[in-house]
Amino acid sequence: METNPSGIDVVCPHCETEWTLEPQEAREGEFKCSECSTVFPISRAMTRRYLRDIRNDTSYPVLRSVIDISFIIDALLVVLAAIYFLATNISSAGSSNLPLVFVIIISAIVLLVLMFAARESALLLIDVADALIEQGGRNSSKGF
Ligand SMILES: [Zn+2]
Repeated sequence: METNPSGIDVVCPHCETEWTLEPQEAREGEFKCSECSTVFPISRAMTRRYLRDIRNDTSYPVLRSVIDISFIIDALLVVLAAIYFLATNISSAGSSNLPLVFVIIISAIVLLVLMFAARESALLLIDVADALIEQGGRNSSKGF
């Protein structure tokens, strides 16, 4: 893919594919992603690109990896625990334990949803910090 210095870098909000638009393409306001055929406003794709740049150039790389790694480990533990409880309860008591089986499945789903939300909230805070730092750097460099 050729790089165009005057092009506008965007990321498809749907499939995350990176594109470089010609300035006249960007002026149309809308862009159709050739990868997933989704049409989206240019501003949304530019925002997505900004978020990706911020995440790639983060001031908190360790914190970001800890969040991702602990999320994967926690999710695995929840799934394994649910399988373990289901296996032990179904084999020992048969269909009389149906309410318990139901509770275990619902609990596992609720835990997973909460974990997704917690991960997103943690990333959100780091995104805000990274965006503020990046903005501050841009503003302070204007004085020179
Ligand atoms: Zn796409």
